[in-house]
Amino acid sequence: MNPCVRFGKKPTEMIFFQSLTQDDLAQLLLPLSRDGKRSSETEEQAEVRALKRARMRARMLFVWVYQRMVTDWNLMTDLSKDLRQWLSENITIYRPEEQYNRQALDGTHKFLWKLVDGKTIESVIIPAALQEREGEEAVQRLQEDGKAFAGMETDAELDSGRWGRLTACISSQVGCAMACKFCLTGVQGLDRHLQIHEIVGQIHELRRVAPITNIVFMGMGEPLHNLDNVSKACQILLDECGLNFSKRKVTVSTSGLVPAIEELGKRVDVSLAISLNGTTDEQRSAIMPVNKRWNLDALMKACRDYPLGPHRRITFEYVMLKGFNDTLEDAARIVKLTRGIPSKINLIPFNEHPGADFKRPEDSRVREFQKYLLDHDRVATVRISRGRDILAACGQLRSIFGTARGTEKHRDYAAEAAT
Ligand code: SAH
Ligand code: SF4
Repeated sequence: MNPCVRFGKKPTEMIFFQSLTQDDLAQLLLPLSRDGKRSSETEEQAEVRALKRARMRARMLFVWVYQRMVTDWNLMTDLSKDLRQWLSENITIYRPEEQYNRQALDGTHKFLWKLVDGKTIESVIIPAALQEREGEEAVQRLQEDGKAFAGMETDAELDSGRWGRLTACISSQVGCAMACKFCLTGVQGLDRHLQIHEIVGQIHELRRVAPITNIVFMGMGEPLHNLDNVSKACQILLDECGLNFSKRKVTVSTSGLVPAIEELGKRVDVSLAISLNGTTDEQRSAIMPVNKRWNLDALMKACRDYPLGPHRRITFEYVMLKGFNDTLEDAARIVKLTRGIPSKINLIPFNEHPGADFKRPEDSRVREFQKYLLDHDRVATVRISRGRDILAACGQLRSIFGTARGTEKHRDYAAEAAT
């Protein structure tokens, strides 16, 4: 018999497993977990027992799906047959379709996923903890490690100890509405928000490829423009019975949607990164339209009010654009802006892409800028650009199909990069 009938429920629409927190799942399983009132108990006691059972089932399912990576309900042999049948009729374990993956010389690994409506998004795995170290030697070692990573064929070889951090950079939207002038994703405009399962699904899928240790929402899209889905996805990513990421290792990066920063802090405990990129309102508004709505004062106030746990910092990302925001006066203003905020400044020399109006500053200028910040008691790192040979670096991600307003030039180039 159809268990929906047996449990007195109408068959519901197919639900994606990765869109549910453990609590959501337990609520969904509650009607199936009631087995009538025993003579020795009250209605209330029977309900408590059913809820306990539903919660236990939800926990077991999280372990099966996220930790044992099983996708076939029938293999979950410690669950009742009825429940397994109900699951197979009502819940789908989402697997994004891999359109292609490419690996850069430095080991950075880019994935293009095709969503069910044919739209595409990208995620990138960035291996090694070397991103913030300095010097030629580090870059060389990175490239050697990268080659080794590229050559690895079996899961057994993917040893997270050797790799230190394996950071997954994931997308939160198809395209982006924020239209920052220097960003390739911004060029295409917003196509749509990603749903919860499409966000969690990227990590779930990447975990099959590599033992991801960190997550950054720095792929395509503005995560706080899609706050409901991103905050729920973060809750799922942090679940101890599921993918079990630590709150310190999940970072949401935003261009500065002030009310959403506050709301994020209320909903979920994750790390925050702010794309600062400008040091006066005039300068910042010229490259980031969002600044016209919420200016630097409002943004820095939101950062001061963000509920940071002990020993945690906000990361300020600063894309360095030659001749635009790379002077020592800018560095001095960063020092002033960040006063009193536990923070670190991550300098990102601009990654050039076809059609871009900006240039990358000389390395010597970047070092000088960094030195100024260090000399003024700021933690300041320079992000070594990763994956540039496959257009996987910061701000170089975009979908290649179904673009909203990408230019032909961009489209052709991206399509070429995808072959
Ligand atoms: N929308 C979010 C997260 C995605 S962008 C945000 O803006 O924070 C991730 C980071 O890449 C941001 O700090 C952004 O400023 C930076 N970025 C965008 N385009 C870039 C480029 N061409 N070169 C270097 N960094 C870039
Ligand atoms: Fe969107 Fe971030 Fe790119 Fe700005 S930098 S357009 S917010 S993805």
